[in-house]
Amino acid sequence: MRFDIITIFPEMFAGVFSGGVVKRALDRDVVRIAVHDLRDFTTDKHRQVDDRPFGGLEGMVLKPEPIFRAVEAVREAGGKVYLLSPQGRTLDAGLARELSAESQVVLICGRYEGVDERVVEHLADGEISIGDYVLSGGELAAAVVVDAAARFVPGVVGKEGSVRNDSFCGGILDYPQYTRPREFRGLKVPSVLFSGDHKRIERWRRKKALEKTARQRPDLAGPGALSPEDRDLLAETKNERKDE
Ligand code: SAM
Repeated sequence: MRFDIITIFPEMFAGVFSGGVVKRALDRDVVRIAVHDLRDFTTDKHRQVDDRPFGGLEGMVLKPEPIFRAVEAVREAGGKVYLLSPQGRTLDAGLARELSAESQVVLICGRYEGVDERVVEHLADGEISIGDYVLSGGELAAAVVVDAAARFVPGVVGKEGSVRNDSFCGGILDYPQYTRPREFRGLKVPSVLFSGDHKRIERWRRKKALEKTARQRPDLAGPGALSPEDRDLLAETKNERKDE
């Protein structure tokens, strides 16, 4: 799995992949990330990547020629090309998983007022947004896309289970996590976690995950979204709260 990032600020990526799970995956060659300076694909002596928008409004727009040249230079057979854009499909676990199944993902980072629309219409396979807000550039969004997708590449996250239980992977939020000490400032870790009874622990975790999902993301815990077993578990938590 290979990511190619095309940007006018390659230096922004120096730190972001230099630690943690993605760094370990890079060291083990499980994923590859190459960052390309868009200016290297210009042909004029000023290495110009932007120009004024037609129509006379303010700001600058990234020109199509260097972007087409950059993509044509780095795209491998079967590689997918995406423009980071607030107008794109919003990144979620499903899209991250889809991207992780590609052999190559090329990410184009926009800047200024955006990118000449011919890139969207005739070069990219799609546009990806990381949320309904506008960033100053696509670099932070590209880093988010790479991190989220890389986690689904087999071998990137140590124990496969830790991705499987992650929020959204099974459709709901993750269960609450606790670590040592057992008691901190009078705040106790739920005793069930020391019971050694794995079935009970699993059931408790599922219940807590459902409870939190229903509270924080009711859109994920509607009647149609949950299995009959999960609906029963959730009903139990509601009854317990009534009894408190
Ligand atoms: N004028 C554009 C608009 O309103 O749709 C926004 C341009 S923005 C200032 C510059 C660049 O940042 C975009 O071309 C895109 O690459 C990136 N960007 C901004 N917000 C983003 C988001 N939510 N998701 C992904 N990329 C984003």
